[in-house]
This record gives sequence, C-alpha cells and structure tokens, in this order.
Amino acid sequence: VWNQTATNLEKVISPQNYTNWIQPIQFSHADNHSLYLIVPNQFFKEWLEDNYVDLINSALSVTADKNMLVTFLIREKEADNAPLEIMEAPQPKESSTLKDLDQAKETTPLNPLNPRYTFDQFVSGAGNQFAHAAAMAVSHNPAITYNPLFIYGGVGLGKSHLLNAVGHKIISDNSSTKICYCSAEKFMHEMVNCIKLNKMDEFRERFRSIDVLLIDDIQFITGKERTQVEFFHTFNALYESHKQIVITSDKFPREMPNLEDRLRSRFEWGLIADIQPPDLETKIAILKKKADTNRILLPDDVAYFLASSDTRNIRELEGMLIRLGAYSSLQHIPITLTMAQNNLKDILVNKRKEITVELIQKTVADHFGLKVADLKSEKRLKAFVLARQVAIWLCRDMTTASYPDIGARFGGKDHSTVIHATKKIEKLLAEDHKLSKIIDELKESILQ
Ligand code: ADP
Repeated sequence: VWNQTATNLEKVISPQNYTNWIQPIQFSHADNHSLYLIVPNQFFKEWLEDNYVDLINSALSVTADKNMLVTFLIREKEADNAPLEIMEAPQPKESSTLKDLDQAKETTPLNPLNPRYTFDQFVSGAGNQFAHAAAMAVSHNPAITYNPLFIYGGVGLGKSHLLNAVGHKIISDNSSTKICYCSAEKFMHEMVNCIKLNKMDEFRERFRSIDVLLIDDIQFITGKERTQVEFFHTFNALYESHKQIVITSDKFPREMPNLEDRLRSRFEWGLIADIQPPDLETKIAILKKKADTNRILLPDDVAYFLASSDTRNIRELEGMLIRLGAYSSLQHIPITLTMAQNNLKDILVNKRKEITVELIQKTVADHFGLKVADLKSEKRLKAFVLARQVAIWLCRDMTTASYPDIGARFGGKDHSTVIHATKKIEKLLAEDHKLSKIIDELKESILQ
C-alpha cells in the first residue's frame, strides 16, 4: 500500500520535492488504521508533519480505500544500527492540528507565524507602499479599517511577509488575540480530513471562533467547489462578527477563474492592495536589510550589481545574496564585485532578457500573421480578437506592466478591456490544449 501511495504522490508533487521528501521514506509496518513509516531524522519528520502529512494521509486513505493515518518513526543513531525509536505517541496530523486550534484559542496561531516576517524586516518602497500601508493600518486597528484586506501580486514580492507581519503586530499589541494564519491549501486539507473523520462541526466551530484570519495564496481554491463553499461560510461568520480577514493571492479577484461570484464579490468588499515589483532603490534597500539580518558584508557595488540584474522576484534576489554569503564564509573570502560576477555567472546568464510589451506584440503578431497595428486596433474579426487577447495575457504574465499600462500600449484601451482579455484567455487555457500549446511556443520564442 505504501508503494502505491508513493506512486500516487509522485503525480501530485514536484519531482524535486518527491525526490527530497518522499523517496527516502521507508515502509516499516502497518496495522488496521495506521501505516508506520521510517524517516531519516527528526528534522525530516517535523518537515513532513508540517508540510506533507495531510497529503500523505489523503493519498494513503485513497489507496487503502479506508481512513488510514501515517505515523513517522525515526531511526536514531543510525550509524550504530540502533533499533527504531518511536517518537512520542503516534500523533495523527488531524488531531495535532486540532490541538493547534485549541492553542489558537489562547494565543498561538494555527500555523506558527514566520518569525522573520515582521514589519521591522519589511522594506517599504516603490511597488509595495500601498499594500504595506494597508497592512499596517489593519494591524493597528483590526476589523475597523479595511475588511477584508486583499493583497495581490506576483510571486516572491512579499505578500506572505506582509500577512505574517500583520499577525505579529496584532499579537504583540494584544497577546490574547486568536489568530489563524494558514494557506488556502492547508485550509482545504484540514477540511478534507475533518470531513473524513466526521469532524466538520468541530472544524467550523474552531475556524469561526478566531479573531483574525490570515489566509495565504487564496488562488489555490479556484476550481475547488467544496472548499469555496466552506470558505464562504467561514468568511461570512467571521465578517459578520466583525473579525479581521486578510487574504493574499497572486491574482486579482476578477482574474481568478472558476471562483464563485459570491466569493469574488466578498474579496472586493474591503480594500484590494496590489504589490508591484520593486524598483532599483527598493531592491538595494531590501538586499542591505537581508544582508544585515544574515550578517553578510555586502559592499554597495555588489548590492547595485545584484539589484540591477533583471531579477524582479525578491526571493530570487535573496537566493543570490545567500549564495554569495555561503561562498564567502566557506572560502573565507570577502564578497567583492568580481567574486559576485564569477559566482553568479551561471544564474545571470540564464536569466531571461528584458521582456517588453513591444517584443510580445511583435512575436504574437508574427505568429498569427498579423501586423502589430492590428493588435492595437479595434478590429473585431475573430482572428484579431484572439491574437490581441493572447498578446495582452502574455504581457500580464511575462512583464510587470500594469493593466492601465498595457491598455495604453494596445491602442489606448481601458483597463477593464485588459482584465476581460486576460480572464478570457485564462478560461480558454483551462479547456483548450491547442491554445495552451500555442502560448507555450510563443513564450519560448519571446524568451529566446
Ligand atoms: P510572496 O508571498 O509574495 O510569494 P514572500 O512574502 O514569500 O513572497 O517574499 C519572498 C521573500 O522576499 C521573503 O524572504 C521576504 O522576506 C522577501 N521580501 C519580499 N518583499 C520584501 C520587502 N519589501 N522587504 C523585505 N523583504 C521582502
């Protein structure tokens, strides 16, 4: 049953995560309701419990065709071939999460907040000022200013950081506030487990008895009807009792396909704040802050060099900094511009060149055998409309241009036309494989 479960898991998680976290697991033994699996060490066990136990339990129950839970055993003192040691009483994730929720009734959030993601550690600058100010306002006066606060923006631009920062601030002002910080994916897994264990009343009661709900990556629930219904009721219960809700998403509510209208409209009830990629100065300031926090000596010219690479995702920038820091400390050499250039050559060479709206327009027009002017025109012929919408969608996906920007560069269209076009393509992509192939090819030629 474990082999089959692992095969099923392979289909739903990335190859790298599968290799790192699932492949090393060994089967130990099983009883009627539990499967005992051996993992290499305590860290591994905790990581799985934090990240994958719900998924593994679900996959296992599907394979076994009955409710089953995993228990991880660690092999202590592996070198001595010591016998397996069972860590504590088997603690299925469901009950441990419910226990977490019990704690949430006191002060602790459902998921611990990331201690590094505080307002102190957040650099406010071009691109994120508005979202930062909104998050601060909400954390100073929960449920009084903007409710819900919906923060959206591209990957790695600081949404989770701000969400955590709101939680930290509220707890530091009032430690008895019941905060629930959880990703939408986690919300769904909790729900699925509670359904399986017939504990939905408990799930509802507990999710609805908190003071502040911080939900990360809400786009995960698109297309997941049952989760949307449950989230809708959770939202309503909290909202009606004047509890603060903060949501992050990589998409604007109206851009989220397969999302119930009633949820979409609720997301728009409060304040929607977007995060745009940072400008050069903000990137430098962030790098300096990260360097300080990680005790890395980062000269100004190297900070400038990193910030002016065409990396817009802060997580990637941070990755480059950490790589330099590690290299410097392992080789006992200081970080210099030459050292950084050599060390990051492979990363930067592979970085895609600057992608512009003009480049996308030209590539799409060529592909469809049209002129760029056709894309900018008002012509309503089917072929023109599709090409135009594809080009607009690619601009949203591959550049940092805002809706109004894109509209302006497509012959002065207003931003609702741009939103409509991106939504249309998003919808088509879900059902039209031919179109998604065309878009993949277009992306490839744009990147070349
Ligand atoms: P997202 O949730 O938008 O994908 P994260 O919040 O996880 O992104 O941010 C990615 C990384 O970038 C984190 O390490 C975060 O601390 C850092 N980061 C993003 N924006 C800022 C900022 N303005 N100041 C400091 N760090 C930032």
